Amino acid sequence: ARKQVIVVTPTYNRALQAYYLNRLGQVLRLVPPPVLWIVVEMNVASTETADILRGMGIMYRHLVCTKNLTNIKDRGVHQRNTALEHIEHHKLDGIVYFADDDNIYSLELFDTLREISRFGTWPVAMLAQSKNKAVLEGPVCNGSHVIGWHTNEKSKKLRRFHVDMSGFAFNSTILWDPKRWQKPIAPSIRQLDTIKEGFQETTFIEQLVEDESQMEGTPFGCSKILNWHLHLEAREVGYPRGWLLQKNLDAV
Ligand code: UDP
Repeated sequence: ARKQVIVVTPTYNRALQAYYLNRLGQVLRLVPPPVLWIVVEMNVASTETADILRGMGIMYRHLVCTKNLTNIKDRGVHQRNTALEHIEHHKLDGIVYFADDDNIYSLELFDTLREISRFGTWPVAMLAQSKNKAVLEGPVCNGSHVIGWHTNEKSKKLRRFHVDMSGFAFNSTILWDPKRWQKPIAPSIRQLDTIKEGFQETTFIEQLVEDESQMEGTPFGCSKILNWHLHLEAREVGYPRGWLLQKNLDAV
């Protein structure tokens, strides 16, 4: 049987939200099942998001994160933790992948996710409006062995692993059966960290693996870009006059 892929997506209301959710949903619809899409909103499950999910024709769960946001930089983090708790609580078996709503994903990416045994990572192309160039972040590999890291200027800080949020995936059983994976950490610690910005991925990954030897670099040689992380500041995009419906998901 094919491994289940569990895709975790935090989302929030802004211009292009409906566009993003439709686009990602349609990619997921093309991935051979079983695929479970866990979409997490803050405070309340909007009927607009619910409508999109209902019409998508894929398996999904629509969750709500009720934690008080104390820091604006924690955007998305608590929502992903809500999904992790849900996966752990219900022992949902599969490969967990954090897919932001606004990134671009190839179908091939989802094939490679299914080959992951414990923890897989791959290079992600980051595109920044200001820099006018693509920068890679993620592993340098010899076959499937991770032997180094691509890093961008922003992350020259002392991060242990240079991995983007959309550049890794892991076996969900690590969340509740750490002994099986020789990394016995109490499950409650296994969350995304909210304290240090830019360190969320690495601190989380350090809870899942000891070092590079427990990682699987994918696809073979890590020689292909399978997804793109755009920093296109959708927050600043507005609809032109005349697009607003009375109750539109994207009308802010
Ligand atoms: N996000 C969210 N609430 C927020 C900000 C972001 O749910 O207040 C979600 C967003 O929809 C996306 C993910 O978190 O799925 C990453 O957000 P963003 O693209 O702004 O982060 P960046 O790409 O700049 O790291």
